[in-house]
Amino acid sequence: RRPARPRRDLVCPRLVAPCSHKHNPSIRVMQWNILAQALGEGKDGFIRCPLEALSWYERKYQILEEILTYRPDILCLQEVDHYYDTFRPIMASLGYHGSFLPKPWSPCLDVEHNNGPDGCALFYRRSRFSLHSTAHLRLSAMMLPTNQVAIAQTLHCQVTGRWLCVAVTHLKARSGWERLRSAQGADLLQSLQSITSHCGGQKQAELGAIPLVVCGDFNAEPSEDVYRRFSSSPLGLSSAYKLLSCDGKTEPAYTTWKIRPSGESCSTLDYIWYSHDALSVETLLDIPTEEQIGPDRLPSYHYPSDHLSLLCDVSFREEPHRLL
Ligand code: NDP
Ligand code: CA
Repeated sequence: RRPARPRRDLVCPRLVAPCSHKHNPSIRVMQWNILAQALGEGKDGFIRCPLEALSWYERKYQILEEILTYRPDILCLQEVDHYYDTFRPIMASLGYHGSFLPKPWSPCLDVEHNNGPDGCALFYRRSRFSLHSTAHLRLSAMMLPTNQVAIAQTLHCQVTGRWLCVAVTHLKARSGWERLRSAQGADLLQSLQSITSHCGGQKQAELGAIPLVVCGDFNAEPSEDVYRRFSSSPLGLSSAYKLLSCDGKTEPAYTTWKIRPSGESCSTLDYIWYSHDALSVETLLDIPTEEQIGPDRLPSYHYPSDHLSLLCDVSFREEPHRLL
Protein backbone atom coordinates (compact mmCIF):
# COMPACT_ATOMS: atom_id res chain seq x y z
CA ARG A 1 0.00 0.00 0.00
CA ARG A 2 1.14 3.50 -0.80
CA PRO A 3 1.70 5.84 2.13
CA ALA A 4 -0.89 8.62 2.46
CA ARG A 5 -0.40 11.76 0.41
CA PRO A 6 1.25 14.47 2.52
CA ARG A 7 -1.21 17.11 3.72
CA ARG A 8 -0.70 20.73 2.78
CA ASP A 9 -1.79 23.31 5.34
CA LEU A 10 -3.74 26.48 4.64
CA VAL A 11 -1.80 29.22 6.39
CA CYS A 12 -2.49 32.87 7.17
CA PRO A 13 0.20 35.23 5.94
CA ARG A 14 1.96 36.86 8.88
CA LEU A 15 1.49 40.32 7.50
CA VAL A 16 -2.32 40.18 7.35
CA ALA A 17 -4.34 41.36 10.34
CA PRO A 18 -6.51 38.45 11.55
CA CYS A 19 -10.27 38.64 10.93
CA SER A 20 -9.85 41.56 8.52
CA HIS A 21 -12.13 39.64 6.20
CA LYS A 22 -14.92 38.95 8.70
CA HIS A 23 -17.70 40.61 6.73
CA ASN A 24 -16.23 40.03 3.32
CA PRO A 25 -16.43 36.42 2.13
CA SER A 26 -13.19 35.48 0.40
CA ILE A 27 -12.69 34.08 -3.08
CA ARG A 28 -10.62 30.92 -3.39
CA VAL A 29 -8.24 30.91 -6.37
CA MET A 30 -6.30 27.88 -7.62
CA GLN A 31 -3.43 28.02 -10.13
CA TRP A 32 -2.04 24.79 -11.54
CA ASN A 33 -0.04 23.54 -14.50
CA ILE A 34 -1.50 20.03 -14.45
CA LEU A 35 1.04 18.56 -16.97
CA ALA A 36 -0.39 17.71 -20.38
CA GLN A 37 -0.98 13.98 -20.64
CA ALA A 38 0.72 13.75 -24.05
CA LEU A 39 3.81 15.67 -22.81
CA GLY A 40 4.12 13.74 -19.55
CA GLU A 41 4.07 10.36 -21.28
CA GLY A 42 5.60 11.31 -24.61
CA LYS A 43 8.04 14.21 -24.27
CA ASP A 44 9.10 15.26 -20.80
CA GLY A 45 11.38 12.36 -19.87
CA PHE A 46 10.48 12.19 -16.15
CA ILE A 47 12.83 9.24 -15.61
CA ARG A 48 12.22 8.91 -11.87
CA CYS A 49 8.43 8.73 -12.10
CA PRO A 50 6.90 5.24 -12.43
CA LEU A 51 5.17 4.84 -15.81
CA GLU A 52 1.97 3.76 -14.11
CA ALA A 53 1.84 7.02 -12.12
CA LEU A 54 2.05 8.88 -15.44
CA SER A 55 -0.96 7.09 -16.95
CA TRP A 56 -4.06 9.20 -17.52
CA TYR A 57 -6.18 6.65 -15.67
CA GLU A 58 -4.08 7.24 -12.54
CA ARG A 59 -3.50 10.97 -12.95
CA LYS A 60 -6.98 12.19 -13.73
CA TYR A 61 -8.31 11.06 -10.36
CA GLN A 62 -5.35 12.61 -8.57
CA ILE A 63 -5.87 15.92 -10.34
CA LEU A 64 -9.61 15.93 -9.69
CA GLU A 65 -9.05 14.90 -6.06
CA GLU A 66 -6.79 17.88 -5.53
CA ILE A 67 -9.29 20.27 -7.10
CA LEU A 68 -12.14 18.77 -5.08
CA THR A 69 -10.17 18.90 -1.84
CA TYR A 70 -10.00 22.69 -2.06
CA ARG A 71 -13.09 23.49 -4.15
CA PRO A 72 -11.79 26.79 -5.53
CA ASP A 73 -14.18 29.50 -6.75
CA ILE A 74 -11.73 30.24 -9.58
CA LEU A 75 -9.60 27.54 -11.18
CA CYS A 76 -6.79 28.41 -13.61
CA LEU A 77 -5.10 25.52 -15.41
CA GLN A 78 -2.28 25.17 -17.93
CA GLU A 79 -1.35 22.18 -20.12
CA VAL A 80 -4.95 20.97 -20.34
CA ASP A 81 -5.23 18.37 -23.12
CA HIS A 82 -8.34 16.65 -21.72
CA TYR A 83 -10.74 19.59 -21.60
CA TYR A 84 -13.67 18.37 -23.68
CA ASP A 85 -13.62 14.72 -22.56
CA THR A 86 -12.83 15.23 -18.86
CA PHE A 87 -12.59 18.68 -17.28
CA ARG A 88 -15.48 20.45 -18.95
CA PRO A 89 -18.10 17.74 -18.24
CA ILE A 90 -16.88 16.97 -14.72
CA MET A 91 -16.47 20.60 -13.69
CA ALA A 92 -19.87 21.45 -15.23
CA SER A 93 -21.50 18.75 -13.09
CA LEU A 94 -19.86 20.37 -10.05
CA GLY A 95 -21.35 23.77 -10.86
CA TYR A 96 -18.48 25.42 -12.74
CA HIS A 97 -18.45 27.33 -16.00
CA GLY A 98 -15.38 26.61 -18.12
CA SER A 99 -13.49 28.25 -20.94
CA PHE A 100 -10.62 26.69 -22.90
CA LEU A 101 -8.07 28.13 -25.31
CA PRO A 102 -5.66 25.69 -27.01
CA LYS A 103 -2.17 26.74 -28.07
CA PRO A 104 -2.02 27.40 -31.83
CA TRP A 105 0.73 24.77 -32.33
CA SER A 106 0.58 22.58 -29.26
CA PRO A 107 3.64 20.33 -28.82
CA CYS A 108 1.16 17.62 -27.76
CA LEU A 109 0.25 17.18 -31.43
CA ASP A 110 3.74 15.77 -32.10
CA VAL A 111 3.08 12.90 -29.68
CA GLU A 112 1.61 9.68 -31.01
CA HIS A 113 -1.88 8.92 -29.66
CA ASN A 114 -2.27 12.48 -28.40
CA ASN A 115 -5.62 13.73 -27.16
CA GLY A 116 -5.52 17.04 -29.04
CA PRO A 117 -3.72 20.30 -28.32
CA ASP A 118 -2.98 21.52 -24.80
CA GLY A 119 -4.01 24.95 -23.64
CA CYS A 120 -5.19 27.16 -20.82
CA ALA A 121 -8.51 26.62 -19.05
CA LEU A 122 -10.38 28.95 -16.73
CA PHE A 123 -13.27 27.81 -14.53
CA TYR A 124 -15.43 29.83 -12.16
CA ARG A 125 -18.14 28.72 -9.76
CA ARG A 126 -21.50 29.67 -11.22
CA SER A 127 -23.17 30.18 -7.86
CA ARG A 128 -20.56 32.82 -7.01
CA PHE A 129 -20.01 34.71 -10.26
CA SER A 130 -21.82 35.77 -13.38
CA LEU A 131 -19.88 36.27 -16.60
CA HIS A 132 -19.62 39.72 -18.14
CA SER A 133 -17.06 39.06 -20.91
CA THR A 134 -14.36 36.69 -22.10
CA ALA A 135 -11.20 37.55 -24.04
CA HIS A 136 -9.24 34.78 -25.76
CA LEU A 137 -5.78 36.21 -26.31
CA ARG A 138 -2.95 34.97 -28.49
CA LEU A 139 0.12 36.61 -27.01
CA SER A 140 2.33 38.71 -29.26
CA ALA A 141 6.01 39.55 -28.93
CA MET A 142 7.50 42.49 -30.80
CA MET A 143 4.25 42.71 -32.82
CA LEU A 144 4.49 39.06 -33.94
CA PRO A 145 1.99 36.40 -32.86
CA THR A 146 3.49 33.63 -30.69
CA ASN A 147 2.47 30.10 -29.72
CA GLN A 148 1.35 31.19 -26.21
CA VAL A 149 -2.16 32.19 -25.12
CA ALA A 150 -4.17 33.68 -22.27
CA ILE A 151 -7.83 33.83 -21.25
CA ALA A 152 -9.20 36.84 -19.38
CA GLN A 153 -12.72 36.98 -17.98
CA THR A 154 -14.56 39.81 -16.32
CA LEU A 155 -16.83 38.42 -13.62
CA HIS A 156 -19.43 39.90 -11.33
CA CYS A 157 -19.36 38.53 -7.78
CA GLN A 158 -22.94 37.72 -6.68
CA VAL A 159 -22.02 37.76 -2.99
CA THR A 160 -20.27 41.13 -2.75
CA GLY A 161 -21.60 42.89 -5.85
CA ARG A 162 -18.02 43.60 -6.91
CA TRP A 163 -16.29 43.14 -10.28
CA LEU A 164 -13.25 40.93 -10.76
CA CYS A 165 -11.10 40.28 -13.80
CA VAL A 166 -9.34 36.88 -13.83
CA ALA A 167 -6.68 35.82 -16.31
CA VAL A 168 -4.75 32.61 -16.95
CA THR A 169 -1.63 32.17 -19.07
CA HIS A 170 1.30 29.86 -19.85
CA LEU A 171 4.38 31.65 -21.18
CA LYS A 172 7.07 30.21 -23.46
CA ALA A 173 9.26 27.61 -21.72
CA ARG A 174 13.02 26.97 -21.60
CA SER A 175 16.15 29.03 -21.06
CA GLY A 176 17.24 31.29 -23.89
CA TRP A 177 13.68 32.60 -24.30
CA GLU A 178 13.76 35.23 -21.54
CA ARG A 179 13.23 38.14 -23.92
CA LEU A 180 10.27 36.44 -25.57
CA ARG A 181 8.67 35.81 -22.18
CA SER A 182 9.19 39.42 -21.23
CA ALA A 183 7.55 40.62 -24.45
CA GLN A 184 4.66 38.19 -23.96
CA GLY A 185 4.21 39.51 -20.44
CA ALA A 186 4.20 43.10 -21.71
CA ASP A 187 1.56 42.20 -24.28
CA LEU A 188 -0.60 40.49 -21.67
CA LEU A 189 -0.30 43.44 -19.28
CA GLN A 190 -1.37 45.79 -22.04
CA SER A 191 -4.46 43.69 -22.84
CA LEU A 192 -5.35 43.45 -19.15
CA GLN A 193 -4.95 47.20 -18.71
CA SER A 194 -7.42 47.76 -21.51
CA ILE A 195 -9.88 45.10 -20.25
CA THR A 196 -9.89 46.32 -16.65
CA SER A 197 -10.23 49.99 -17.50
CA HIS A 198 -12.98 49.75 -20.12
CA CYS A 199 -15.44 47.25 -18.71
CA GLY A 200 -18.67 48.83 -17.50
CA GLY A 201 -18.13 52.01 -19.48
CA GLN A 202 -18.49 55.35 -17.79
CA LYS A 203 -19.58 53.89 -14.47
CA GLN A 204 -16.36 51.89 -14.26
CA ALA A 205 -14.31 54.97 -15.02
CA GLU A 206 -15.89 56.60 -11.97
CA LEU A 207 -15.24 53.55 -9.79
CA GLY A 208 -11.64 53.00 -10.94
CA ALA A 209 -10.09 49.93 -12.55
CA ILE A 210 -11.52 46.46 -11.95
CA PRO A 211 -9.50 44.36 -9.47
CA LEU A 212 -7.38 41.74 -11.19
CA VAL A 213 -6.10 38.23 -10.50
CA VAL A 214 -3.57 36.78 -12.97
CA CYS A 215 -2.59 33.13 -12.62
CA GLY A 216 0.04 31.43 -14.66
CA ASP A 217 2.98 29.26 -15.37
CA PHE A 218 5.28 32.11 -16.40
CA ASN A 219 8.22 29.75 -16.99
CA ALA A 220 10.31 32.50 -15.39
CA GLU A 221 12.22 32.69 -12.12
CA PRO A 222 11.63 35.83 -10.00
CA SER A 223 14.97 37.17 -11.31
CA GLU A 224 13.63 37.41 -14.87
CA ASP A 225 12.53 40.53 -16.66
CA VAL A 226 8.92 39.37 -17.06
CA TYR A 227 8.62 39.04 -13.26
CA ARG A 228 9.93 42.57 -12.83
CA ARG A 229 7.46 43.80 -15.43
CA PHE A 230 4.54 42.28 -13.56
CA SER A 231 5.61 43.48 -10.13
CA SER A 232 6.21 47.05 -11.32
CA SER A 233 3.33 47.52 -13.78
CA PRO A 234 0.85 50.40 -13.43
CA LEU A 235 -1.80 47.75 -12.68
CA GLY A 236 -0.48 47.52 -9.10
CA LEU A 237 0.03 43.75 -8.95
CA SER A 238 1.68 41.73 -6.19
CA SER A 239 2.60 38.07 -6.16
CA ALA A 240 0.49 36.27 -3.53
CA TYR A 241 3.00 33.57 -2.63
CA LYS A 242 5.59 36.10 -1.44
CA LEU A 243 3.34 36.41 1.60
CA LEU A 244 4.31 32.88 2.70
CA SER A 245 7.83 34.08 3.45
CA CYS A 246 8.89 35.60 6.77
CA ASP A 247 9.65 39.00 5.26
CA GLY A 248 6.73 38.93 2.82
CA LYS A 249 9.15 39.73 0.00
CA THR A 250 10.49 36.34 -1.07
CA GLU A 251 8.94 33.84 -3.45
CA PRO A 252 8.87 30.16 -2.46
CA ALA A 253 12.05 28.21 -3.28
CA TYR A 254 10.20 26.11 -5.86
CA THR A 255 6.86 25.56 -7.57
CA THR A 256 8.18 22.79 -9.83
CA TRP A 257 10.83 20.14 -9.20
CA LYS A 258 11.70 17.36 -11.62
CA ILE A 259 14.40 15.00 -12.81
CA ARG A 260 14.97 14.58 -16.54
CA PRO A 261 17.85 12.81 -18.34
CA SER A 262 19.47 16.25 -18.56
CA GLY A 263 19.41 16.59 -14.78
CA GLU A 264 17.42 17.89 -11.83
CA SER A 265 15.49 21.13 -12.12
CA CYS A 266 14.00 22.91 -9.13
CA SER A 267 12.50 26.32 -9.82
CA THR A 268 9.84 28.92 -9.09
CA LEU A 269 7.85 29.49 -12.28
CA ASP A 270 4.20 29.74 -11.20
CA TYR A 271 2.49 32.78 -9.74
CA ILE A 272 -0.82 34.22 -8.59
CA TRP A 273 -0.75 37.99 -9.12
CA TYR A 274 -3.42 40.19 -7.53
CA SER A 275 -4.28 43.90 -7.37
CA HIS A 276 -2.79 44.84 -4.01
CA ASP A 277 -4.84 47.99 -3.54
CA ALA A 278 -8.18 46.28 -4.14
CA LEU A 279 -7.65 42.74 -2.80
CA SER A 280 -6.02 41.22 0.25
CA VAL A 281 -4.71 37.67 0.63
CA GLU A 282 -6.25 35.89 3.63
CA THR A 283 -4.79 32.39 3.31
CA LEU A 284 -2.31 30.45 1.19
CA LEU A 285 -1.81 26.74 0.66
CA ASP A 286 1.64 25.87 1.98
CA ILE A 287 4.35 24.48 -0.31
CA PRO A 288 5.32 20.85 0.46
CA THR A 289 8.76 20.36 1.98
CA GLU A 290 11.60 18.64 0.13
CA GLU A 291 11.02 15.61 2.34
CA GLN A 292 7.31 15.49 1.47
CA ILE A 293 8.10 15.74 -2.23
CA GLY A 294 10.56 12.87 -1.87
CA PRO A 295 13.84 11.91 -3.56
CA ASP A 296 12.27 11.15 -6.96
CA ARG A 297 10.73 14.67 -7.06
CA LEU A 298 7.71 15.36 -9.30
CA PRO A 299 5.50 13.99 -10.72
CA SER A 300 4.87 10.91 -8.55
CA TYR A 301 2.01 8.83 -7.20
CA HIS A 302 1.33 11.62 -4.71
CA TYR A 303 1.74 14.57 -7.04
CA PRO A 304 0.23 14.10 -10.51
CA SER A 305 2.06 17.07 -12.09
CA ASP A 306 5.64 18.30 -12.12
CA HIS A 307 4.19 21.66 -10.97
CA LEU A 308 2.62 22.21 -7.54
CA SER A 309 -0.83 23.70 -7.30
CA LEU A 310 -0.97 27.19 -5.80
CA LEU A 311 -4.04 28.23 -3.84
CA CYS A 312 -5.07 31.37 -2.00
CA ASP A 313 -8.14 33.04 -0.56
CA VAL A 314 -8.45 36.70 -1.51
CA SER A 315 -11.02 39.21 -0.39
CA PHE A 316 -12.03 42.66 -1.59
CA ARG A 317 -10.70 45.51 0.47
CA GLU A 318 -13.17 48.20 1.44
CA GLU A 319 -13.45 50.70 -1.38
CA PRO A 320 -12.35 54.17 -0.28
CA HIS A 321 -15.40 55.82 -1.89
CA ARG A 322 -17.70 53.48 0.04
CA LEU A 323 -16.14 54.58 3.30
CA LEU A 324 -16.96 58.22 2.67
P1 NDP B 1 7.44 25.58 -25.10
O1 NDP B 1 8.92 25.71 -25.34
O2 NDP B 1 6.79 26.73 -24.45
O3 NDP B 1 7.25 24.28 -24.25
C1 NDP B 1 6.25 23.35 -24.53
C2 NDP B 1 6.14 22.40 -23.40
O4 NDP B 1 7.36 21.72 -23.16
C3 NDP B 1 5.77 23.13 -22.14
O5 NDP B 1 4.57 22.57 -21.71
C4 NDP B 1 6.94 22.91 -21.24
O6 NDP B 1 6.54 22.66 -19.90
C5 NDP B 1 7.63 21.69 -21.78
N1 NDP B 1 9.07 21.68 -21.50
C6 NDP B 1 9.83 22.67 -20.99
N2 NDP B 1 11.12 22.29 -20.88
C7 NDP B 1 11.16 21.04 -21.34
C8 NDP B 1 12.21 20.09 -21.46
N3 NDP B 1 13.47 20.38 -21.11
N4 NDP B 1 11.91 18.88 -21.95
C9 NDP B 1 10.66 18.57 -22.32
N5 NDP B 1 9.62 19.43 -22.21
C10 NDP B 1 9.87 20.65 -21.74
O7 NDP B 1 6.69 25.18 -26.45
P2 NDP B 1 6.19 26.04 -27.67
O8 NDP B 1 4.83 26.49 -27.41
O9 NDP B 1 7.19 27.05 -28.07
O10 NDP B 1 6.11 24.93 -28.75
C11 NDP B 1 7.26 24.23 -29.10
C12 NDP B 1 6.86 22.96 -29.79
O11 NDP B 1 5.60 23.12 -30.48
C13 NDP B 1 7.84 22.55 -30.85
O12 NDP B 1 8.83 21.72 -30.28
C14 NDP B 1 6.94 21.83 -31.82
O13 NDP B 1 6.76 20.54 -31.33
C15 NDP B 1 5.63 22.55 -31.73
N6 NDP B 1 5.48 23.58 -32.75
C16 NDP B 1 5.13 23.23 -34.00
C17 NDP B 1 5.00 24.20 -34.99
C18 NDP B 1 4.60 23.78 -36.34
O14 NDP B 1 4.69 24.56 -37.24
N7 NDP B 1 4.14 22.56 -36.49
C19 NDP B 1 5.21 25.62 -34.73
C20 NDP B 1 5.54 25.89 -33.38
C21 NDP B 1 5.67 24.89 -32.45
P3 NDP B 1 6.60 23.77 -18.71
O15 NDP B 1 5.87 24.97 -19.19
O16 NDP B 1 5.96 23.02 -17.61
O17 NDP B 1 8.06 24.04 -18.49
CA1 CA C 1 5.26 21.03 -18.68
